[in-house]
Amino acid sequence: MGELLSVLQLGNPVLRQKASFVENINDEHIQKLIDDLMATVVKANGVGIAAPQVAQSCRLFIVASHPNSRYPNAPEMEPTAMINPKIIAHSTEIVKGWEGCLCVPGIRGLVPRYQAIEVEYTDRNDKLQKQELTDFVARIFQHEYDHLNGIIFLDRLKSNLDNIITEQEYQKQIINNTQL
Ligand code: ZN
Repeated sequence: MGELLSVLQLGNPVLRQKASFVENINDEHIQKLIDDLMATVVKANGVGIAAPQVAQSCRLFIVASHPNSRYPNAPEMEPTAMINPKIIAHSTEIVKGWEGCLCVPGIRGLVPRYQAIEVEYTDRNDKLQKQELTDFVARIFQHEYDHLNGIIFLDRLKSNLDNIITEQEYQKQIINNTQL
C-alpha cells in the first residue's frame, strides 16, 4: 500500500514547471511514487493525479476513473500509471465538460477538450502502450498531461464566468443533471 502524499495548491511554482522525462521506470523511487500517487488519488476522491501535483516534477501520472462523491458518473477502470505519455493524434471534435483539480479545491470549470485521443505511454512494467481514449477518460488524460507542462485547467477556460462555479453549486446543479 502506498503512502498518502500532500497535494500542492495553486500558486506553488512547481505546478508551473515543465516536468522532466522519467529515465528509469524500474527505479525504486519511481515505483514507490506510483504506489503513493495511487493511494493519494483514491483517498482524495480524484480520478487522476500527476507527479508535479505532489512536488515531483517528472512526466508520470495516474488515470483512475471510478465513480466517487466528486465524480459520481465517472466510468470504472483499473488505476493506470502512465509514464512519459504523449498524444499522437486527436479528434477534430471538441467537447466541454466540468473539471476540478486537487490543486484548486472548491472550484469547477467547464473545459473544452478533444473528444478522442490516441496516446502512447510506458506502463509501470516498462512496456510501451498505445491506446485510444474517448470521452471522460480522454478528458482525464488531457488534464493530467497538462500538469506535466505546467498548465492548470483554469488556463483553458474561455473568459466567461459561466464557465466557472463552486464545488457546492456543481454538486447542486450539475450532478443532478447527470453531466460529468
Ligand atoms: Zn489537476
